[in-house]
Amino acid sequence: MSDIAAVGEKSVFEPFDKEAFKKEILNNIKYLFRKTPETASQQEIFQAVAYASKDMIIDEWLNAHKEYEKQDAKTVYYLSMEFLMGRALGNNLINLCCYKEVAEVLQEMGLDINVVEDQEPDAALGNGGLGRLAACFIESLSTLNYPAYGCTIRYKYGMFKQQIVNGEQVEIPDDWLKNGNPFEIKRPEYSQEIKFGGYVRIEYNEKLGRNVYVQDGYQSVMAVPYDLPVVGYNNGIVNSLRIWDAEPLVQFNLDSFDKGDYQKAVEQENLAKSIVEVLYPNDNHYSGKELRLKQQYFFVSASLQQVIKKFKATHDDIHQLPDKVVFQLNDTHPTVTVPELMRILIDEENLEWDDAWDITSRCCAYTNHTIMAEALEKWPVDLFMRLLPRVYQIVEEINRRFLIQVEEKYPNQYDKIRNMAILYEGQVRMANMAIIAGFSVNGVARLHTQILEERELHDFYEMMPEKFNNKTNGITQRRFLLHANPLLAQWVTDKLGTDEWITNLPLLKGLAPLADDSRARKEFQEIKYQNKLRLAKYIKEHNGIDINPDSIFDVQVKRLHEYKRQLMNIMHIMYLYNQLKDNPDMKFYPTTFIFGAKAAAGYKTAKQTIKLINAVADVINNDPAVNDKMKVVFIENYCVSNAEIIFAASNVSEQISTASKEASGTGNMKFMLNGAITLGTMDGANVEIVEEVGSENAFIFGMSSDEVMGYEANGGYNPREIYEQDADIHRVMDQMVDGTYSNGDTETFRELFNSLINQDVYFILKDFRSYAEARAKINEAYRDSKAWNRMAILNTACSGKFSSDRTIEEYVRDIWHLKKVFVK
Ligand code: PLP
Repeated sequence: MSDIAAVGEKSVFEPFDKEAFKKEILNNIKYLFRKTPETASQQEIFQAVAYASKDMIIDEWLNAHKEYEKQDAKTVYYLSMEFLMGRALGNNLINLCCYKEVAEVLQEMGLDINVVEDQEPDAALGNGGLGRLAACFIESLSTLNYPAYGCTIRYKYGMFKQQIVNGEQVEIPDDWLKNGNPFEIKRPEYSQEIKFGGYVRIEYNEKLGRNVYVQDGYQSVMAVPYDLPVVGYNNGIVNSLRIWDAEPLVQFNLDSFDKGDYQKAVEQENLAKSIVEVLYPNDNHYSGKELRLKQQYFFVSASLQQVIKKFKATHDDIHQLPDKVVFQLNDTHPTVTVPELMRILIDEENLEWDDAWDITSRCCAYTNHTIMAEALEKWPVDLFMRLLPRVYQIVEEINRRFLIQVEEKYPNQYDKIRNMAILYEGQVRMANMAIIAGFSVNGVARLHTQILEERELHDFYEMMPEKFNNKTNGITQRRFLLHANPLLAQWVTDKLGTDEWITNLPLLKGLAPLADDSRARKEFQEIKYQNKLRLAKYIKEHNGIDINPDSIFDVQVKRLHEYKRQLMNIMHIMYLYNQLKDNPDMKFYPTTFIFGAKAAAGYKTAKQTIKLINAVADVINNDPAVNDKMKVVFIENYCVSNAEIIFAASNVSEQISTASKEASGTGNMKFMLNGAITLGTMDGANVEIVEEVGSENAFIFGMSSDEVMGYEANGGYNPREIYEQDADIHRVMDQMVDGTYSNGDTETFRELFNSLINQDVYFILKDFRSYAEARAKINEAYRDSKAWNRMAILNTACSGKFSSDRTIEEYVRDIWHLKKVFVK
């Protein structure tokens, strides 16, 4: 904001004209749908409002890009298979600084802005943290005045919608485009041809005096981009999220009797359809499917071809590309960027290898998101070679040249080659390619980066330490406080006497003294209470369960994954239930245990865990003996739009992954910002959360990452010993297989039981006691509302570090080297 003031303007927007906006909504209702406000459906009203708001964006969108071109500004291309954007309308209005005014206009028309917003489907082009991070980043880039594109796929079906039927997850296709997308603009003029398969022919080129490589006999599709506006907060900057759709290159020609043509057309149609059909619903897990590699190459090649054409339109010398363009690879998914850029530079721009390599390695930077072995992408060589024959040749050459360097530096050290080669045992290891080619490798929280440097990527770190850096993740306060929690946002503004925290989150520190002010604590508590009522209403409407807003809201919402240990949470609830049944007078503050989690469709253990949570919920919620003390709720279809309601209403933030497994987490930051207390392990960004807020204002338990990795190095531990020795754990474990939660059936949860007793890879039994102690402490602490609200205010006050604005400024400073662009 201070930067904007420096160019002499307080707000970059014209004063909002309510009457004109109302007229535009009415016109849209009339001309788009031939209706009146009385006869239009809620969906049509949403569309009318969305189109009216897009009209406000268009000029800024044009101006910003005109200014980028004028200044020939360096641009970051954030390449990501996922952008979990959620809804756009509310956030666009917030960033255009007219949310309140639009709410008033709608109210005058007898409409409720919340109801209108609820008509918008989430743009769920992502699985979880990685995709939502990309969405926060692109919003921060706009707000911070940096030229940027997000590049991804226009999946026809996004992340599936989850229903719970008889306690089990059922996946429903997410047909998010069925009513059209009012915010997108098709850009057919930027279409790019993408080639798959065929073979490589070598030709001697007289002019160049060398062989050139030509791909022949391929199949191709047309990549057609759509742009979505990403509005910066009150600064007139609008960047684009470019989502690529696929269309067949040749349309069906019904008049043609040429069977060859017809066959080709059918194939192309099918190829185009299949590539963009659906988002793979795996989080932190590599599936190895050919179609997935096609998706990766499709959106990477389209984005790169477009970038190079755009660059060449205004520059003569391709060697200057790294001065104007940087590609950030969000995980290994877009790593095919490396050989594809080499291919374009060598085969189409006619550069020599060394020149092309210099440019490529100065344009590409890689973010690592996980150390989980099952998430690392390794493509079988035969599949890679068949699908991308020319690109594969380039991968081979990158690998060959790199291994020469390794051999020179570490003669006869075969373990180095085993660890660092791109091609090894018939596989293409994408992480290795990204590290070798890029100029930057970053982890996403301090502990994670440290583990990469010291363990997982140690050989690379030793050989090229200058590439490694940490960028702790962040979240945008515009969505996760200003939009998600308007009551708290207003309170913060009132207390700080300014709304500058909207673009400068560390200002929240100014709230810290209020932790000792009894009136402020009461107000904070009342706001949390109102948000709990809002969530209780949502749960009543969606789950049909009544919950007590005076109870502790203890919440674990995130993808279902064994390492995230939802199983430990529900086992602890089973343990508490036993205790309360045995000892009804036990001191226990009423608690509502809330879960929200999608499991990848093929992830059996995760689905069983969902089933167990729902089974336990069913028993407990129907037991009058405990219902004034505890309830368990599984919120269906956890997604960005209901996440916003959930974070605002939470008291306890469950961040209980096995230490070393969660690279960062971002949910943890959203809870903290909204005044929830972290109950967590020393994992990912929890470490930095505790550092910011102080260990006395969080509840930390469990083994450290060093301890976990120590056990792992020695082949694990013996969970059966704990099962034998700890009577409470024994009882809970037995209840999984004695029918207590499965109508007498002993096999329903047998696999969960077996996984714990045989191996317990994620140390659930080992951390159980320590978790139980921390939970008991938290239950006790909540009784002291003065101390609790003090902690809660301090959590909000100390969350300033976790703004994605801070993260983006660090990427810019250390990796991207962009300049801010201001529009007049
Ligand atoms: N899914 C959604 C909808 C989110 O908003 C978030 C939060 O950042 C995540 C997944 C990731 O959560 P976590 O970091 O707790 O795994």
